Amino acid sequence: MTTDRALAPEVASDYVEVAEDADTTAGSHDTTMEAVVELCKRRGLIFQSSEIYGGLRGAWDFGPLGAALKDNVKAAWKRDMIQLRGDVVQLDASILMHPRVWEASGHVEGFTDPLVECRTCNARFREDQVTQGDASTYECPRSDYSLCDFGPAKQFNLMFQTHVGPTMESGAAVWMRPETAQAMFVDFAHVQLTSRQKVPFGIAQVGKSFRNEIPPRNFIFRVREFEQMEMEYFVRPGTDEPWHEYWIQQRWDWYLRYGIRRDNLRIRPHAADELSHYAKRTVDVEYRFPFAWSELEGIANRTDFDLSRHAEFSGKDLSYFDPALDERYVPYVIEPAAGVDRSALAFLVDAYRDEEAPTAKGGTERRVWLQLHHALAPMKVAVLPLSRNEKLVPTATEVADILRPRWMIDYDETGSIGKRYRRQDEVGTPFCVTVDFETVEEDRAVTVRDRDTMVQERVAIDRLEAYLAERLDTPS
Ligand code: ATP
Repeated sequence: MTTDRALAPEVASDYVEVAEDADTTAGSHDTTMEAVVELCKRRGLIFQSSEIYGGLRGAWDFGPLGAALKDNVKAAWKRDMIQLRGDVVQLDASILMHPRVWEASGHVEGFTDPLVECRTCNARFREDQVTQGDASTYECPRSDYSLCDFGPAKQFNLMFQTHVGPTMESGAAVWMRPETAQAMFVDFAHVQLTSRQKVPFGIAQVGKSFRNEIPPRNFIFRVREFEQMEMEYFVRPGTDEPWHEYWIQQRWDWYLRYGIRRDNLRIRPHAADELSHYAKRTVDVEYRFPFAWSELEGIANRTDFDLSRHAEFSGKDLSYFDPALDERYVPYVIEPAAGVDRSALAFLVDAYRDEEAPTAKGGTERRVWLQLHHALAPMKVAVLPLSRNEKLVPTATEVADILRPRWMIDYDETGSIGKRYRRQDEVGTPFCVTVDFETVEEDRAVTVRDRDTMVQERVAIDRLEAYLAERLDTPS
C-alpha cells in the first residue's frame, strides 16, 4: 500500500477486459427485455410519460416503486463515492449554465450525430441506422423508411436549446446541459477553496441531463431526459494513469457489490477513432443487456483539457498550487460517468428471476421475483395481516408503524397470502411480515418470510426491528 496520498492506492485489478472491437451481440440472456418492460408497466415502476395523450417518445415516468428504486441507486452511488471516502465532495449545480461553457467544452461544435432527412416525408434518421438498415419504422410517417429518398448527411447537435428572459427575441439562448460534468470544472476553484480539499480529490454530482437522441430506444436505456452520476477526480499530471486504473477497479467493484453478476459485466477500452476529443484513454463498463453488450458507464482520463479550456475561455486561472510540492499545475481529471436510468435497468434485468418454486401443498408454481440487493429494493418490508379481520388489522398497523421510521414499508391486506407474497416477490421486497391470530391471541410474534430462501421464521414483535436491521442493513 502506498503512503503518498498523491499516488493511487495499489489495488489488485480483477476486472474482465475485452478487446476494443469485442463483439457487442449479447448472445443468450436468461431474461428478455419484454419480460422486464412488462413487469415495470404492470407494477407501475416505469411507464410512458404523458400516456393519456399517447405518450412522448423517449420520455418515461418512474412510478412509486420505480422512483424508490432510482433513489436507492443514487444513494448507493453517493454512499460509496462520497460518504465512505473523505476525498470526494458533492455539488448540485444549475442545469442552465452560461452559454460559453458549452463553447469551451466543445459541445456546441462537436456534440453532434450525422443525420439524414427524407426529401419526401421529412423523417429524420441517424445516418448509421439507415446504412445498417435498422431504423425503427414508426418514426417514418409512412411506416416504411425503405421508400425514403435521403439527402446528404448533416451534423445534428444533440443539445436542447431554450431561452432565458421574458421573450424569445430578447432572451439569451441557453442550452439544457447534456452532461453534469462541466459544472464540476467550472466550479473547480470555488469548491476546492471552500471545501479545503487538496489534490487528489473529487467533485461528484447526481442530476438530470438532456440529449435530443435520434431515435431514443431500448426502454430507459437511451432517453432524452436522464440522470447521471458523475465524478471528476483531480490529480497531479503524471499520476493520472494509475488513478485511472484505480477508478476502473472501484467502479467495477461497485456494480458487483450491488448485485450485478460478474458474467454480465465487462470493461471495453475505446479504440483510437472512438476516443472523445478530450480523452487520453477511456474505457466503458458494459453490461450484457438482452439486446446487446452496451455502455453503463464511461471512465475517462480527460487530462487537463477541460480546466485549460475553461481557463482560456473565461480568462480565470484554474490552476492549483500544490503545497506538498511547492508547485503550480493544472490538474488532470479522471472521470467515472454513469447513468442512473441505465444502471437501474441493468439492476432490474440482472435481478429478474422466473422460476418454478415449491408450493405449501407439495406441488410447484411459477415464481417471478427480483433478486435485488437489499439496498436497492424499493420496499424493504411488507406487512401483511393474514386477513382484513378487525382483530388483526390494529396489530398489523402497529407493526408497520414500528418499522416505518427506518425503512420503506408496504402494507397490504387484500388477496390471499400467497398472492400477496407473489406481489412482493416480483418487486423484490426482501421480507414479508405476517400478522395472524396467534400473534394477537397468543404470542405477539409474527412470521417473517425471506424473499430469497422463502424460509419463514417466527419473531417476537419486540425483537422484529433488531431482527430485520441485522439482515437488511448489512450489504448482502
Ligand atoms: P452512448 O455512447 O451510449 O451514447 P455516451 O458515451 O455518449 O453514451 P457519456 O457521455 O459517457 O455517454 O455519459 C455517461 C453516462 O450517461 C452513460 O454511460 C450512460 O449511462 C448515461 N447516458 C448517456 N446518454 C444517455 C441517454 N441518452 N439515455 C440514458 N442514459 C444516458
